[in-house]
Amino acid sequence: MKHPMIVLIGPSAVGKSSFLDRALSESELNLYDVVTYTSRAMRPGEKDGVHYHFVSQEKFEQLKEGDFFVEWALVHGNYYGTPKDQIREAWGRGQTVIMDIDVQGAQSVKRLYPQAISVFLMPPSVDELRQRLIKRGPAGDLELRLENAQREMALADHFDHVIINDEFEAAYKEFRKIVEKASQNQ
Ligand code: 5GP
Repeated sequence: MKHPMIVLIGPSAVGKSSFLDRALSESELNLYDVVTYTSRAMRPGEKDGVHYHFVSQEKFEQLKEGDFFVEWALVHGNYYGTPKDQIREAWGRGQTVIMDIDVQGAQSVKRLYPQAISVFLMPPSVDELRQRLIKRGPAGDLELRLENAQREMALADHFDHVIINDEFEAAYKEFRKIVEKASQNQ
């Protein structure tokens, strides 16, 4: 049984969801996007069970104690965790698992699943990232997110691929090739 996995990493607002949405719309890639769990509040437009499974901090802690997660992390002061069951089920269906998690999570996942291919999505500059964060809407934690972004960007070399998300189509093409290869090689 093949167990292909792609981990998409990169700072908040770098464009990870556009890559994911596009890749998921291409059914021949046969991807399964893990819906991770978080204790953060829902943002306008987000849906429970779609963007995340939104749970209370207490519930998250229960799940964590119950060995429900492959990995979990505290990001921007909130809990985030990747559930084991969805990964198992997706592989059982012959799909390639894809997930959008933070750098700490990606490092834990790589330790557990050495075949996982990690792709770091990099903004063209910190200034451009700031603009994208501002455009995305009221984020009281803008400075915190920018600080974390710079810390994450300093770790980019630890991952298998780095893609600069300047021009979307060109960057996506590069990403798609990596996904195809990861799915075929397992
Ligand atoms: P946001 O709050 O902007 O949706 O996400 C904040 C960060 O949490 C993003 O970098 C995202 O990749 C990361 N994240 C989402 N789910 C998980 C998860 O299950 N585990 C880890 N480690 N990080 C996650």
